Amino acid sequence: MSTISATVNEVDGKVALVTGAASGIGKATALLLHARGAKVVAEDIDPAVESLVRPDLVPVVADITKDGSAEAAVALAVDRFGRLDILVNNAGRIIYKPLLETSREEWEAILATNATGAFLHSREAMKAMMPHKSGAIVNIASYAAYFAFPGIGAYTASKGALAQLTRTQALEAIPHGIRVNAIGVGDVVTNILNDVVEDGPGYLAEHGKGAPIGRAARPEEIAEIVAFLASDRASFIVGAVVMADGGMTVTAG
Ligand code: NAD
Repeated sequence: MSTISATVNEVDGKVALVTGAASGIGKATALLLHARGAKVVAEDIDPAVESLVRPDLVPVVADITKDGSAEAAVALAVDRFGRLDILVNNAGRIIYKPLLETSREEWEAILATNATGAFLHSREAMKAMMPHKSGAIVNIASYAAYFAFPGIGAYTASKGALAQLTRTQALEAIPHGIRVNAIGVGDVVTNILNDVVEDGPGYLAEHGKGAPIGRAARPEEIAEIVAFLASDRASFIVGAVVMADGGMTVTAG
């Protein structure tokens, strides 16, 4: 049988859990996977996620950092749709503060969301995927896992941790047929920037202009990469942080 096919049903019939699905990249991802035939559990701390409800798309309002939320979200997917094939660890937060002014509570809150919440969800997802000997986990990291940016030290540390979680879990998961990868996302126009809007409307206009591509991404452009990495089409990609940053990490300036 030929392995070449003209038709792409990359996630049709698969069951996905997407965290941080109320807005931005997570929302675009949940809707794209659903539009391509996946059954989706969309998790977010923001009740706005409930507006996504539709057949085969189940929203759940939960804080991914809280004990039991990963177990509950994975159980919801399995109870409602029979299994879990895809986890997208997308929920994330940022604070704009120099490390000297960052409190322990602020540091821990960013690490809890961007790294610990992803770890807990990945651990639970792996347990649900292992009996089927297949599955894909996609972590939404950042080019901030590689670049240092003064003023967002807690965020860069959390994304560095997420990149390393990706690589280590990939090695532990691949013997079970589960692929773990991440996306090194560059600038994307989303609500995460709301915190810096007070720095002036010019910030949003300039967001992404420093990248060789000359603009920020739309959330849907990142969702397309998630769908690919989550699909069997990416069957040989294991432990990678795929850069989607408009060329930021390859330019010398
Ligand atoms: P966003 O603010 O639109 O979406 C983030 C979502 O995560 C929100 O809906 C928020 O409510 C949810 N969330 C935050 N904390 C949560 C928690 N404890 N429990 C459950 N949900 C929680 O921003 P976005 O840009 O779409 O962010 C998605 C991911 O992309 C984040 O991990 C972010 O770090 C990453 N990223 C974004 C950019 C960018 O320029 N926008 C760049 C690189 C990486």
